[in-house]
Formats: sequence, C-alpha cells, structure tokens
Amino acid sequence: MARIELHDITHSYLRRPKKESDYALKGIDDTWEDGGAYALLGPSGCGKTTLLNIISGLLKPTSGRILYDGKDVSVLTPEKRNIAQVFQFPVLYDTMTVFGNLAFPLQNRGVSNDDIRRRVHEVAEILDLTGVINKRAAGLTADLKQKVSLGRGLVRADVAAILFDEPLTVIDPHLKWHLRRKLKEIHEQLKITLIYVTHDQIEALTFADQVAIMVEGEIVQIGTPQDLFENPAHTFVGYFIGSPGMNFLECTLEGDTARVDGAVIPLDEATAALGRETKGRLEIGIRPMYLDVRSDPGEAGVEVTVQMIEDQGSYRIVTLMLGGHILRAKVPEGKPVSEGTAWVHFPKQWIRLFADGRVVT
Ligand code: ADP
Ligand code: MG
Repeated sequence: MARIELHDITHSYLRRPKKESDYALKGIDDTWEDGGAYALLGPSGCGKTTLLNIISGLLKPTSGRILYDGKDVSVLTPEKRNIAQVFQFPVLYDTMTVFGNLAFPLQNRGVSNDDIRRRVHEVAEILDLTGVINKRAAGLTADLKQKVSLGRGLVRADVAAILFDEPLTVIDPHLKWHLRRKLKEIHEQLKITLIYVTHDQIEALTFADQVAIMVEGEIVQIGTPQDLFENPAHTFVGYFIGSPGMNFLECTLEGDTARVDGAVIPLDEATAALGRETKGRLEIGIRPMYLDVRSDPGEAGVEVTVQMIEDQGSYRIVTLMLGGHILRAKVPEGKPVSEGTAWVHFPKQWIRLFADGRVVT
C-alpha cells in the first residue's frame, strides 16, 4: 500500500510538443493518500487513461516525477512498482481456466500453492465466479470475462495500489451496481489505495471517498462528493457534478450586488469584497436546488420567465429565462410553479463567485 505523489507531470503523445494543446496532461501535481478510495472522473478524452498508465508505469511521462511513499519510482516498470491494473476490456489468458487466470498473478510472486488456492477461492466467492472456476476463459461471456479481470486485479493483497480504468464498461447495468458495491466492500476490508477511473458521476460519487475531477489534461479539484457539490473550485466541477449542473451567470459587481442583464442579485459582503479585488471574467454560480422560485417579487426577487416544467417524480426541473440567460431550478413537489412570469430568489449563502472559471475565495 502506498501514498502516491505526482510532481509536475506532463505528457504529450507528440515527439516535439510545442503548444499547450499538444499535451494530453498539462501539469498534474497531486497526492493520493495511502489507503484512499479515489475516483478519477472526467469526460472522454480528458486524459484519465494517460494519467493512470503513468501512475502504473505503463507510460513514461514527458516530464515530472512519481513517488510512492516518498520513493522515486519514475523509471520503474509496473512490476517493480507492484501495481495491479484492471483495464476497460478484459485482459485474460483465454486458454487458461478461470482458476488459472486468478492464480497467475500469485504464482508469479512465488506464493505457496495452499495460499494461492485459498486466495483464489476467496476472490472467486466475492465475485460470484465459483460456479465457473474450472471453465476456460475463452468460453465465457463478456461480463464474466471482465469479472475475472477484476479478480486478477484484486487477488494480491500486497500491492501498492489497484488501478481500475472504467472497469465496468462492458458490464450489464444491473451487475454494475452490484460490482461497485463489492469493490467498495473490498476496499473497506483491505484498505488498499484504489484509483477508479470513470466518466460516470454516479459511479464516481457512490464508489469513492475522494473524487478527482479532470478536464482537458488537468485535475481541477479533489474532494469529497459533498465538497464538489457545495464548493466547486472550478465552473467545470459545478457543471459536471449534479443533475442538472450548477447554473452560471456572467455578471458585473456593483457594491454588494451582482448585476446580470440589469437584474440585481444581492451577495454577501465578504464575497462581493473578494470579487471586487479580482480581475477576470466574473460569473455567479448557484445549484438548481437552491434557487427559490416564487409567484410574487417579495424582497430582492429577480423577474424571470418560466419556460418549461419537467416532472421528475419527487421534484420538478423548471427552466427559467433571466434576460438572455437560461437557469434551471429544482422545485420540490407540492410547491406551486406555473409557466409565465415568476420571481427567483438567490439565497446568499449558496451563491459562489468565479473569475475566469476559478472560484473566488
Ligand atoms: P480518457 O481516458 O480520459 O478518455 P486518454 O488519456 O485516453 O483520455 O486521452 C487523452 C488525449 O490523448 C486524447 O486527446 C487522446 O486522443 C490522446 N491519446 C490517447 N492515447 C493516445 C495515443 N496512444 N497516441 C496519441 N494520442 C493519444
Ligand atoms: Mg480512457
């Protein structure tokens, strides 16, 4: 088990990278604590697989250093780093049985036959593979093959970390949920550093204690699901986490208020003061659940037009127009809203201010 530090990691697949867009990773500087359950979450193409392969040693970064427990492993192979990695698609020995596939990583390490048998049966039990333990891998369904791949990643208890690269892509949705729970249980038992790559926020937020959000080759925030929800460090985090994502409105500041297309939105003093000292393009952000939609102006209500009301069961998603801006509000069941003119209140404590995409703090 290890604490993994990344120092100034950049990576380009080009031989002579020149401009910023030539880099798949643009300067990753983060620490993954020993025993943590992490998710690395970001849209397709943002650099997740590249980063995972650099952590495991399959890929050598263009620049930067990787430390495991303070020791520089930058030039070591995955075997030397003692890493288990599970890929998006099954990687198995087709001619071997399930038992053989699961036993292989242990035989390679000189574990005794008794211990191998015990451990393989344990892992097979956890993943419900006992019934096919003597079947050849070649004859298995895609689901089962991927479960065996997961098993190969989990079979050794002495690894520095286990890295999963979207391991449930080929798995049926029902089973996905089940396997995610299993992985979480296994983490709670073994306390091995786990890094789980996904583009699916539900998967990330239910699996991990800490979620790293990646966009365009950068990690913009690492935090608990609650941190990411309540205090996004970057507009991308606000937009990517939550459904629908955070609302953003470009604004200017006047005294303790934000001005959006002539509308006046009161801010708390501290936020406004910080904003006035900040250069760059300003936006306020607020989660749909915190917008309060009313049928009268009240105090400081901002006039909007209700365009659409979507019933989602226990709440409704209401689409509002504020001047030329679209806002989405999550309105609880039972609270009246109708199409046409309405007023929306922005509770000060839930307004976040961003300058050039970064939160102002
Ligand atoms: P993700 O796993 O988040 O989908 P990747 O790490 O696979 O993203 O890719 C990051 C970027 O690097 C993408 O622009 C992708 O096209 C590029 N890329 C990935 N692998 C290679 C490769 N072997 N050669 C050239 N470019 C690559
Ligand atoms: Mg990938």
